[in-house]
Amino acid sequence: MWRGGRHPLGRALHAAGLRVDDFEVPGRLYLLSHFHSDHTRGLSRRDPGAPVVTSPETALLAARLHRVPEERFLLIRGGETIDLESPTRLRVTAIDANHCPGALMFLVESEWGRLLYTGDFRLDETMRAAVRALPPVDLLVADNTYDHPRYRFPRQEVAIDEVVAIAERHVRERQVAIAVYTIGKTRILRALRERLGLPTYVGEPTARAYGVLGLADIVTRDRDSTPLRGYARGYFERYFKMRREYREGRTIAIIPTGWAVDVLRPEWNFHYVPYSEHCDFHEREEFVASVRPAAVEDLLEPAGAGRRHTGAPSAPSGTPAIF
Ligand SMILES: [Zn+2]
Repeated sequence: MWRGGRHPLGRALHAAGLRVDDFEVPGRLYLLSHFHSDHTRGLSRRDPGAPVVTSPETALLAARLHRVPEERFLLIRGGETIDLESPTRLRVTAIDANHCPGALMFLVESEWGRLLYTGDFRLDETMRAAVRALPPVDLLVADNTYDHPRYRFPRQEVAIDEVVAIAERHVRERQVAIAVYTIGKTRILRALRERLGLPTYVGEPTARAYGVLGLADIVTRDRDSTPLRGYARGYFERYFKMRREYREGRTIAIIPTGWAVDVLRPEWNFHYVPYSEHCDFHEREEFVASVRPAAVEDLLEPAGAGRRHTGAPSAPSGTPAIF
């Protein structure tokens, strides 16, 4: 959710009726960066609403899972540009955000200036090249999820190798439960499918989302076909530790999250792996330095300032719920 911030450009776009990841306030045009719940608030089939510019994957998820009419979406892919006349003359360019499937960032060019809105992103080589080709940006609104230098993550491939290695060590003797989000951590489940030959058992909503995205073979609804389990993070905090299988060592937990950096004494049989689909502090610094915007605003308000980024259904106390 972004309400225009404090910068004159953001305020002018908001006043003109542009809404970005925010469907709670009526608008004349919406941009939707990706299908995580803290970015889709207010989006529903009942809202007749103005057009929504988003990726084909996000549109499909919103149409199938939230039953939003498909005709409401204007589709854009990473690298594409579309010109719009309403609510004002706008040129919108999408850049692949390397976050969850279908996630985009948006460059919005208007009579008041150029806004680059990142949504949630993880820096990668394609993005570095895309950013180098950008025209001058007046206002950058950037993902600041991990806003301290202690957050320095390994490359995703390295973290995925670690998850696969842990799963491989245990998978013949016990269940391996992995913290996943309905949409997200997809690369981990794909790697487990490809390298261990095993799908991950997931709940119905996650299985439906994977089906919509054409990734149904990575997951299963058949508990007996695999020792891999995919649960939401909240499940590990509330129920997992109470289960007899856990207490008796017949199941272990793998928690892939950027917050792994803060876990100094993990619980028994919990493995925290610093896999993140957000940029770390240093990647954000690099991103801002290469965009060289005239002004920068944070996407997230400081902790305790009201809104929390919630990619997950619930959070352990003291730990932001981000996947
Ligand atoms: Zn997200």
